[in-house]
Amino acid sequence: MSQTQLFCPSCKGQRLRAFYQAAGVPVHCNLLLDHRDEAIHQPRADLELLACEGCGFMFNRAFDESKLSYGEQYEGSQGSSGTFNAFARSLAMRWIERYGVRNKTILEIGCGGGEFLDLICELGDNRGIGIDPAHAPGTTGRVRYIADRYGPRYADLQADFVCCRHTLEHIPQTHDFISTIRQTLGNRHVTVALELPDTSRILREGAFWDVYYEHCSYFTAGSLARLFRGCGFEITHLELDYDDQYLILGAHAGAGAAKPFAIEESPDQIVAAAIEFGPKVEEQCQSWRRRFEQWHGRRIVLWGSGSKGVGFLTTLGLGDDQVRHVVDINPKKQGKFMASTGQRIVAPAELATIQPHIVIVMNPIYEQEIREELNRQGVDAQLVPAA
Ligand SMILES: [Zn+2]
Repeated sequence: MSQTQLFCPSCKGQRLRAFYQAAGVPVHCNLLLDHRDEAIHQPRADLELLACEGCGFMFNRAFDESKLSYGEQYEGSQGSSGTFNAFARSLAMRWIERYGVRNKTILEIGCGGGEFLDLICELGDNRGIGIDPAHAPGTTGRVRYIADRYGPRYADLQADFVCCRHTLEHIPQTHDFISTIRQTLGNRHVTVALELPDTSRILREGAFWDVYYEHCSYFTAGSLARLFRGCGFEITHLELDYDDQYLILGAHAGAGAAKPFAIEESPDQIVAAAIEFGPKVEEQCQSWRRRFEQWHGRRIVLWGSGSKGVGFLTTLGLGDDQVRHVVDINPKKQGKFMASTGQRIVAPAELATIQPHIVIVMNPIYEQEIREELNRQGVDAQLVPAA
């Protein structure tokens, strides 16, 4: 490493291994972009991923938080999908039952639009405090919203249960962030529950579309557990869900037996998998390029305009001459344009006119839902999952 003062943000270790670079990726994947020109000229930045040999945490050393804005144009909700909503509901029920979260005060850090917080408050007859820079301040129903980033100034917020979904991967200073949550708990017996993407699957599959600028921090079961234990937590649950795409952790303050869970890998195992990632991505790219050559002249659309879709199209350099449109069921995204590659985002109903031959499915968990929608639209296309 040329920089000697570089530390792992999770364990402060200095043995860091560079394993993947991608130059000029779009900074934002989830902005609502009204014009094709604006979309094509979106700001770009670099990915330089490092893996820590001490704890197995992975992060983008080139990440600059000041480039990102989560303002009005930001739309990261997956709440239009039945599959996703069913999962959110089952997770809310699991946490309510497992941790006895009824008639309690719940703090959700990074609550986005507040859909999950509303749900868990309603299902368990709870009250909520939601913190998110993208949410308007004020009180709606059972929930009070604070329009800000979570940080030490909120360490005195009192709650009986703290949850944090799909947020830690956006936080560069991971140890500081989890330590602040630990301070919030004090000596009280409060459960903290987290959900975030599992990177071991991404490494294993060479899933380059799951690595993007908005995610600066990449965890696996082992590195997440080591971070929590290092910040004074005892972990009670650590599991994979959503087709093994998400890691789910439950912990409370304490320094109990640190017997690792079966799904925790060692730092060495993660570093070894990280080193294999670059060659696997190269294989993936070659295989997709061969497919696109074979598909020459056919009408191809991609399903899913979120980060995965942006990462897929930009890494492969696929403009709207090759992938004509991108489909999304979120009405807010329809009529907008894909960052960098510029495809127009369409509603499923437009497929009846477009009549694609091939539909690339960015997240295979939605395949059944997509097949049913294509049937409704009278589209007989080949579905090709990205995996
Ligand atoms: Zn580390």
